[in-house]
Amino acid sequence: MSCIFCRIVKKDIPAEIIKEDENIIAFRDINPKAPIHILIVPKKHISSLNELREEDKELIGQIFLFVKDVAKELKIDKGGYKVSINVGEGGGQEIFHLHVHLLAEKRQ
Ligand code: 5GP
Ligand code: ZN
Repeated sequence: MSCIFCRIVKKDIPAEIIKEDENIIAFRDINPKAPIHILIVPKKHISSLNELREEDKELIGQIFLFVKDVAKELKIDKGGYKVSINVGEGGGQEIFHLHVHLLAEKRQ
């Protein structure tokens, strides 16, 4: 298994996990671009947004609810934060396992 995020999902390599459920895991970015930088990752390997399928509709909804819950738990929900998804090389995607970036400057 070569995908680094699949290896984090399987706990083959360590990550600072913030929150996890059956389908999704959130952990700190190893090279943060903001004081708070979390990656929200579906456990299912989907290589990018381009590969999303009709059957992933519910999962995508769960991911965004998960983002909101993580933001609340880290107390950045009121102060505000950025959510982004890089798609493909031209979009700056380096890890080809779908993930959402959650970035914030500080806690409120
Ligand atoms: P992308 O550019 O694909 O949207 O974002 C990939 C992100 O994953 C980058 O921000 C990078 O710092 C992060 N990253 C890469 N390898 C690892 C790793 O092994 N562990 C963690 N926690 N983050 C990683
Ligand atoms: Zn993967």
